[in-house]
Amino acid sequence: MVVQFRALSIALLCSLSGITLATRTPLYARDDACTALAAVLPGDVAYPNTTAFFQSTSYWSEQQFETRPSCFVTPKSTKAVSTILKTLTQGNWPFTVKSGGHIPFAGGSNIENGVTVDLVHLNDIKIFPDRQTVSVGPGNRWINVTEVLDPLGIAVTGGRDMNVGVSGLILGGGISFFSGQYGWACDNVRGYEVVLASGRIIYASPSENDDLYWALRGGGSLNFGIVTRFDLVAFDQGKIWMNALSFPGTSNATVIAHFQNLTTYGMPEDTGTSGFVGINLNRSSGAYSADVGLLHATEPSPPESIPAVFKPFQQISSATANSTTAADASTFLRLFATPYGRRWTWGNVVISASFSRKFLAEILSLYQSRNIALFENEGDDEIAPTALFQPIPSNVLQAMQKNGGNAFGLTPSDGPLIMISFPTSWANRQNDELVQSSTRKLIADVERKAKEYKVYTPFVYLNYAGDKQEVQKGYGKENYNRLERIARKYDPQGKLAQLWKGYFKLDR
Ligand SMILES: Cc1cc2nc3c(=O)[nH]c(=O)nc-3n(C[C@H](O)[C@H](O)[C@H](O)COP(=O)(O)OP(=O)(O)OC[C@H]3O[C@@H](n4cnc5c(N)ncnc54)[C@H](O)[C@@H]3O)c2cc1C
Repeated sequence: MVVQFRALSIALLCSLSGITLATRTPLYARDDACTALAAVLPGDVAYPNTTAFFQSTSYWSEQQFETRPSCFVTPKSTKAVSTILKTLTQGNWPFTVKSGGHIPFAGGSNIENGVTVDLVHLNDIKIFPDRQTVSVGPGNRWINVTEVLDPLGIAVTGGRDMNVGVSGLILGGGISFFSGQYGWACDNVRGYEVVLASGRIIYASPSENDDLYWALRGGGSLNFGIVTRFDLVAFDQGKIWMNALSFPGTSNATVIAHFQNLTTYGMPEDTGTSGFVGINLNRSSGAYSADVGLLHATEPSPPESIPAVFKPFQQISSATANSTTAADASTFLRLFATPYGRRWTWGNVVISASFSRKFLAEILSLYQSRNIALFENEGDDEIAPTALFQPIPSNVLQAMQKNGGNAFGLTPSDGPLIMISFPTSWANRQNDELVQSSTRKLIADVERKAKEYKVYTPFVYLNYAGDKQEVQKGYGKENYNRLERIARKYDPQGKLAQLWKGYFKLDR
């Protein structure tokens, strides 16, 4: 069973084995920003060649791990975050912020020769007595949250991989096992405690600073402030159920056609459902496979039965693996964990779920041709590509509308949609440009095809976006301008725009 889950974790985001952390020697000296921070927060600043520094260098991708800040600062309270932001913005010192460290691109949540604010110690988890709200500190990984909530029989709309950080996932959107019922993670935040560029601490909710609340629902946090607490909607939750299936690549078109039907008809009919299809390549056999995860938020009754909306997948006769499991959220998060130690890139295109078989054939051909070109040039590397299909059905789009909606600019009439992302991993630094440029080109080619076949949408999902994708521009002009206005209101001097380094920022 574990082997089966591992295959699905690979489907979810290809992976290979990890490496140890202490093999690199950072050489950077401390700088003025670190000295200033150490003066106001003694004991919270970690310099290169110290144990504390190495602890903070745990990043999922190698590109981020190799990035060496002048120092990490690890605040232990919201007040300390406020002191840090005040110090950095007054000194005009560049910085970035790390939660779970899972954005793959170099400089995504780590910074060369600057300050990385590592939120690791802000890891409180507080359950309200009515069990309807859980307050979560921004330094938590999702496994910290589920391990507390599972024994109580409650859950929040959160991540599916144990090590992903709560902050990045929620702030970028957050596709969850529970999204069919509740929407994405950002749609299930009651309120955010936020530290602004000035160091001021405010609360954003539907009734307080509601413009900032809207912006933080997918607008990209780097222009607005550091979130120091997420108050999340909680609900009763038992076991999650999954049917894991694998099919040979020759069945790709049939499997994806079933997935389109599920997204369009099955998911709105049974909102407990979620799922994905990964078109993966076995490098030793050279064969592609379609690896499918069909999940339900409620265990079926009787337990060995298959929910009606998933039954069509059972009719595809070519399955090479077909198993079911029911377990708590923590078990799924552990089994979906994608190991550290590889170099990674990705990007995504979101299209109408009504795409034709011909369109699918064309984009799979683009994907496979790109892979062949990579393998011809990889040297002694072993590049691992994936094409990952994830649903955005109309019930999810509907759930996104609550509390004034989010920043994405999507409505139920835009859907149903399917996101295709292309996570790709490799080992050798000399292949960085090769893989990154081929992934960018693949995204551009798929976008072009989507336009040609009239299934294109400008929406790009921030949390799987490529390093050069202009995410917020895809939210529509009105939403983009609104985000800029809100950023100007809460950071009039544009300090965060200037100093907070990373990806998916507004132009301002
Ligand atoms: C293995 C794996 C599995 C994944 N699974 C899912 C999934 O199931 N669903 C899904 O939707 N996405 C998933 N993702 C994508 C994931 O949501 C994004 O990569 C996300 O950015 C990771 O969050 P993080 O906190 O770990 O990242 P980080 O790299 O720490 O941060 C990401 C960004 O958020 C900023 N940031 C961090 N903390 C704060 C804060 N407190 N306030 C303001 N800004 C902050 C950082 O500066 C950075 O720009 C997955 C990614 C990986 C690698």
